[in-house]
Parts: sequence; structure tokens; C-alpha cells
Amino acid sequence: MTESPNRRQEIAAHLAGVRGGIAQACRRAGRDPADVTLIAVTKTFPAADIRILAALGVADVGENRDQEARAKHAELAALPIRWHFVGQLQTNKARSVARYADFVHSVDRQDLVPLLSAGATRSGRTLTALVQVALDEAPGRGGARPQDAEALAEAVAAAPGLQLGGVMAIAPRGLPPAPAFGRLAEVAARLQRSHPGARIISAGMSSDFVEAISAGATHIRVGTALLGHRDPAVR
Ligand SMILES: *Cc1c(COP(=O)(O)O)cnc(C)c1O
Repeated sequence: MTESPNRRQEIAAHLAGVRGGIAQACRRAGRDPADVTLIAVTKTFPAADIRILAALGVADVGENRDQEARAKHAELAALPIRWHFVGQLQTNKARSVARYADFVHSVDRQDLVPLLSAGATRSGRTLTALVQVALDEAPGRGGARPQDAEALAEAVAAAPGLQLGGVMAIAPRGLPPAPAFGRLAEVAARLQRSHPGARIISAGMSSDFVEAISAGATHIRVGTALLGHRDPAVR
């Protein structure tokens, strides 16, 4: 990967822009920016970019493929960052992810739960797991149906090595994001009645994090706006 001498300045400028956007969205929503965690989604970008982000004060990094995430984690294990696995999780990758991820955002079916639990307990770790909720009927983007979220949350909460963190969603393609994020907030509120500690609402990406913050997102997942466009040949 190219590592231009200007990369740090470029990322710093993008980060300032995103932080400004977060601050503005919080002002409008009457929220404290300290209550919104920025996760830098670094998939397809080199480990060097993660070093730059960490040096600029970013403490949360998101990846979506096990092999890539595992390699970057191994290389950067000394950095003070939390690792978030945000991509669709294949059953045969669950144990692996549980060995290095601090958060898994994409728990969308029951069969992942015992595998994540086994991976975490065997490594002596506690993994924060979020229930991914589907906000449209389109298949393929992952996510449990909203009516199944509660049962999945129960399973996560009961599993050794797993801590129920809350919910995650991706806005439906081609529809206004605000109503979808509103539905996610309702699911989150229902879940919190029986699991008061499950406070995380992971929602919003480069194009819609402002709407997500208005709807109560506690964690936003931003890639392109921080690092630029991903090489479409890679992803
Ligand atoms: C890639 C990705 C993001 C970041 O998307 P951008 O549009 O580049 O900000 C967020 N969430 C998930 C689940 C992703 O896979």
C-alpha cells in the first residue's frame, strides 16, 4: 500500500471534519458529543492508517473480515485501541473473531452465540456482543428481524464470555435513514427494559451518521469520510 508523507495530514483533516459533523449533530439533537463513540472503519486500508488514527486519538477501529482483522490486530496489538468486528459473520469465523475482537456488532442469529462464547471463554476474554437488527426486508445485508431481537439478546446475555452491549443496524439502501434509525431506537428501548446495561446503539456510517445521532446512536461507524474511497477491486 502507498504511504504518502501527506497521509497523516489528510487523515487529520478528514477526522477534524467528521468530529465537527458529530459536534454539530449533537448540538442539534441536544446531546453530548462525549456520548457518541466514533469507530473508524479501516477495512481495506493498511495497518499504517490505523497507527495514524491511533496517534490522532481515535480509540476504536472497525473491521469486517476475519482474516484481514486478525492480521491487523496481530500487527498492532500494542496500540491502545478497541477492535470492533462490524461485518457479516460467517459461522466458521466466529471462534476466530472472538479471540481478538472487543466488540462484535453483527450477532444476527442464534447459532453464532455458542461459537462466540466458546472462543471468548477459551481465550479468557469477555466480548461485548451487539444484536444486529434488519431494518428492511431485503435479504443479504444481515440482521435479525426486529421481532427476533429480544430472544437473541436473551441468548447473548446468558452466554459465558459474552456481554450484551446493545443493538446495531445498517440503514436500508435507497430509503431515508431517519425512520429506519427510529425503528432501531424502539428495538433498543424495548431491549433495555429487560437489559438496562445494553446501552449501545451502533448506527450511522459516512453518509448518514448525522441522522443516526439524531435518533440516539451511541456508536457511529465511519470509513470513507475518514480514509477516502475504498478500492473497488479490493472490496
Ligand atoms: C464499511 C462499513 C461501514 C463504513 O462505511 P462508510 O460508508 O465507508 O463510512 C460501516 N459499517 C459497516 C457494517 C461496514 O461494513
